[in-house]
Amino acid sequence: MPNDPETVDQIVIGGGIAGASVAAELARTGTVVLLEAETQAGYHTTGRSAAQFTKAYGPPVIRGLTRASERFFRATDGTEAPEGLLRPRGVLFVARSDQHAALQKLSDLLGDSVVPTTAQEACHMSPLLRSDYVSRAVFDKEAADIDVDALHQHYLKTIRALGSDIRLKSPVASLQYSDGLWRADTPTGPVQAPVVVNAAGAWADDVAEMAGVAPVGLMPKRRTAILVEAPETAHIDDWPMVVDVDEEFYLKPDAGLLLISPADATQSPPCDVQPDEMDVAICVDRIETAFDLSIRRISHKWAGLRSFVPGGAPYACFDPDARGFFWLVGQGGYGIQSAPALARFAAALITETPIPSDILNEGVTAADLMLRRNEVAA
Ligand SMILES: Cc1cc2nc3c(=O)[nH]c(=O)nc-3n(C[C@H](O)[C@H](O)[C@H](O)COP(=O)(O)OP(=O)(O)OC[C@H]3O[C@@H](n4cnc5c(N)ncnc54)[C@H](O)[C@@H]3O)c2cc1C
Repeated sequence: MPNDPETVDQIVIGGGIAGASVAAELARTGTVVLLEAETQAGYHTTGRSAAQFTKAYGPPVIRGLTRASERFFRATDGTEAPEGLLRPRGVLFVARSDQHAALQKLSDLLGDSVVPTTAQEACHMSPLLRSDYVSRAVFDKEAADIDVDALHQHYLKTIRALGSDIRLKSPVASLQYSDGLWRADTPTGPVQAPVVVNAAGAWADDVAEMAGVAPVGLMPKRRTAILVEAPETAHIDDWPMVVDVDEEFYLKPDAGLLLISPADATQSPPCDVQPDEMDVAICVDRIETAFDLSIRRISHKWAGLRSFVPGGAPYACFDPDARGFFWLVGQGGYGIQSAPALARFAAALITETPIPSDILNEGVTAADLMLRRNEVAA
């Protein structure tokens, strides 16, 4: 094993969508080494998502980043983005009669991007919805399924094509700063760079602690997803995703099956998280209450960690107290749909180049994605 560290412009820790996308952007102007602990770059949260693109979903900063990502997703931004990353799938946000206030709030927030929809229309669009359950809905017709694997692979291929390096099976075991360089030690050898990007998902605070940097209070939260069969006679492919307005459940067609979730958010330590049987039971109960569906068999189930930071918006910024240490964390349940713009944004800050104007035009500024230690402590 070589002991002399390889020297590059940036080290990126974490090969999920956050690390892969920012490394691809950085590789355009410098040399990058992407370090991933697992044998597959998408093994953790990135490979476990519901793969939905919804401009109406998430806090304002996420919605801005998602709007700024849309041209890339639709391959209309003039870059080499692959075609077919999005496939239309509208989202119906549904409300019971006791949830009208929540639906009104969502409707006021989203304005013209959603269309008021009657219970009858909602049941027509999603035929298993119980007409005595749903009372009102709003429809986001511009939402879509994301081909997450194609997106992730695009970034990984770009990194290699630009001459930078991806090292799998390379958990960073120590991270130290000296003489203006961060040195990362891994089983595949040491590497050093003036900048290290912490894109380690649920492990980001562990990585910080290893580096002697104060953690940001990251909160990984478990979310469960289950695949079940649809009734044989149902033609589910073109059905919308249905999301409870208070996010108590969702259901969407997924490759001939129905993906359902209780939309759980249980705090968890960083780990290879697995579904909890209680969450599975809650999911089945909520779905059977809202839909005319009797769930007898579960085809597949999994869980993933959605990681949040105080304030709710991600951090994409240099640590104010640790030179060259860049945070790219806290993407919550929206890290795929916002990744293209967030990666360009982060790369601009890291390379000290202007933030792309199309992202600024969506109302996203560096201040929105900045870590403020006083907020973390509060
Ligand atoms: C059930 C579910 C549904 C979701 N649905 C959606 C959706 O519809 N739309 C959407 O946009 N988002 C969705 N999300 C959220 C989205 O999946 C995440 O925001 C995104 O995948 C986070 O990516 P990441 O790269 O930060 O994390 P990860 O994919 O977890 O990547 C972090 C990587 O860092 C590596 N790592 C950690 N420590 C080290 C170390 N010391 N050395 C080297 N490597 C290390 C890990 O092995 C891991 O591969 C969903 C999430 C879940 C769980």
